[in-house]
Amino acid sequence: MKIVMLGAPGAGKGTQAKMIASKYQIPHISTGDIFRANIKNGTELGKKAKSYMDQGLLVPDELTVDLVIDRLANDDCKNGYILDGFPRTIPQAEALDAALAKLGEKMDYAIDVDVPDENIVSRMSGRRACTGCGATYHIVYNPSKKGDCCEVCGEKLILRDDDKPETVQKRLNVYHEQTQPLIDYYTKQGILKAVDGTQDMNDVFTAITNILGA
Ligand SMILES: [Zn+2]
Repeated sequence: MKIVMLGAPGAGKGTQAKMIASKYQIPHISTGDIFRANIKNGTELGKKAKSYMDQGLLVPDELTVDLVIDRLANDDCKNGYILDGFPRTIPQAEALDAALAKLGEKMDYAIDVDVPDENIVSRMSGRRACTGCGATYHIVYNPSKKGDCCEVCGEKLILRDDDKPETVQKRLNVYHEQTQPLIDYYTKQGILKAVDGTQDMNDVFTAITNILGA
């Protein structure tokens, strides 16, 4: 079973990807992990990737695709895998499909964990971080027992710039711009499945397993 996960930052896509990987016994593959592993092992592809990252540049599509394809050739991928954070662009999606086609394979599902922007913005704006020890809380889901102070160290809790509504909305705009073409791409292939990501995490997972089958 080969799955691509789509979903906005803050939609809970990573959590679902981990749950799927565990239930179906397939690896959860993210480009970040692949980059780190190749750099750590000093592979040729890893050295190339590092030279871009050291210059503060994005790793080019072609190299990213090579790294992912290389990872997918590993033994643990023979029953499938779940891709998280890749592909991000149409050229990446096309390169992935082309590489799979060479092996006589194709992607089975693209799962979109769909959460309206306003829900994500409101979830994020409830986060609080401790200025002392870095502990994190949420005013609704995980409030500090000491109100606006940290349970651990007693320092003041703040809303980080990263979690402020305007910052979150900007990130979401970039996401939509990048990802909408992918949603169209997989819709045309007939493999896009959207699930309502506003539900409880376990209900989202049930919706996904209903699509994938037990
Ligand atoms: Zn603290």
